[in-house]
Formats: sequence, C-alpha cells, structure tokens
Amino acid sequence: MLTVDGLSAWYGEAQALRDVSLHVGEGEIVTLVGRNGAGKTTLLRSIMGLHQGATGTVRFLGDDISALSPHKRSRRGLGYVPDDRGIFATLSVEENLVLPPVMGPDPWPLERVYETFPRLRERRRFPGTKLSGGEQQMLALARVLRTGARLLLCDEPTEGLSPLIVAQIGEILREVKAAGVTVLLIEQNVHFASTVADRHHLLAEGRIVESMDNDEVLSREHELLQYLGI
Ligand code: ATP
Repeated sequence: MLTVDGLSAWYGEAQALRDVSLHVGEGEIVTLVGRNGAGKTTLLRSIMGLHQGATGTVRFLGDDISALSPHKRSRRGLGYVPDDRGIFATLSVEENLVLPPVMGPDPWPLERVYETFPRLRERRRFPGTKLSGGEQQMLALARVLRTGARLLLCDEPTEGLSPLIVAQIGEILREVKAAGVTVLLIEQNVHFASTVADRHHLLAEGRIVESMDNDEVLSREHELLQYLGI
C-alpha cells in the first residue's frame, strides 16, 4: 500500500532522515521505534507531505505521490494523527467529528465511529477540553477515520496514557485493522507494539537500522527498552 524509497529530510543544514526505505502492506500495522530525535516524527510528516525539504519517493497504492500537497494526499486516503492530537478544544466531541470535511475514499459514518468508540458517544456533548488524554486520543483517531483515511500515520498514540487506556487504544487499533485500515505508528512501548503490530522498524540517527517481527521484539524487549532509555 505504502512504499517509501530513499527518503531524506533536512531542517536547514541538519539532516534528519537519511535514505529511508520501507514498505507497509494493505491491512498491516507497522511501528516505528527509536530514541528521541531519531527522526520518527519527521518520517511520518514527510510521508504526509507536511515536511518541506524532503527528497525521495513516496508511493501510495502504486502511485507516486511525492509531489502532492498534504491536502491531495488526504484525498488519496492518507490520514495523519499528530502527537498533540490536533482536536479543537473548544468544540464538542460530536462537532469535532462532523466538522472536518470528508476527503478520503472510505469515510466512516458517525454511527460506525460511535460503535467503535462507545466512550465518544457517551462524551459527545463534552468539549475537547474536558476529555481525558485517552478520550482525546480516541477522538483524534476517530476524526481521521471519519475523513475517509485508508492509511493512518499515528504519532505515538499511547504517549502519557495509563496502562488501562493503552490497552483500550490497542483494542481500537485491532478493530481499525479488522476494518481494513492500514496503520503506521510511532510506538515506544515495545511490549504493547508487539501485541498490536505485525512488524517494527528501529530508527537511529535518521536511518532504519533494524527491522523486526514480533517474536524478535519480545525476545529483545529488555535490551530495546534499555536502548530507548525507557
Ligand atoms: P521525538 O520522539 O523526540 O519527537 P523523533 O524521533 O520523532 O523524536 P524528530 O522529531 O523527527 O525525531 O527529529 C529528528 C531530528 O530533527 C532531531 O535531531 C531533531 O532535533 C531535529 N528537528 C526536529 N524538528 C526540528 C525543527 N523544527 N527544527 C530543527 N530541527 C528539528
């Protein structure tokens, strides 16, 4: 579904990504792990077209989308869930869900969103400011599904959430996958990652230095956590 080839990115003179290539198959969940500053966010933003100053090729469903604006990438079915969650704090949950225009090819009806995220139905009249971190994360994911994304690019959805809520996010990601949506996510909780994802890439200094399956992640969990400084 997504093929990234030879992607490099800069901030001025400083190179943040170095010749990154990866593939995400339709219906897969793939994680990016790596220390702070490894380039994970820059990689997701470059795939979405949000980072000015990236070179290389991004192909989506067979088409080269490298020259397309973020807006046009959204229309093709890419959806970005930023680490600050990007929700409108003063609007209600339901307003957050109905306001963004449908752009992608596979929009979820509101009812389907509420079936997948029953907590959001309960909270539908609440303003964004009154939501817990976990509820905000659910809303951020739900909004992107509403707009019709077929590939979610998620920047660390479990960051700062309690184990119970992390488990709920895991359930949601599994449901999203069962619905045929593909996910590329940043995830530092490698144990959690091994329970939701199919494959994992380790980034260091802007490069993919290792690619692992779940068995490898689990057998090296301690070493990886030490390396990541968690
Ligand atoms: P984190 O988890 O801390 O966000 P990351 O792996 O997502 O880390 P990036 O945020 O992509 O890493 O950063 C990659 C490199 O680019 C780092 O060296 C970082 O300092 C640098 N960088 C990121 N954003 C900027 C910016 N706006 N201006 C200059 N350099 C930046």
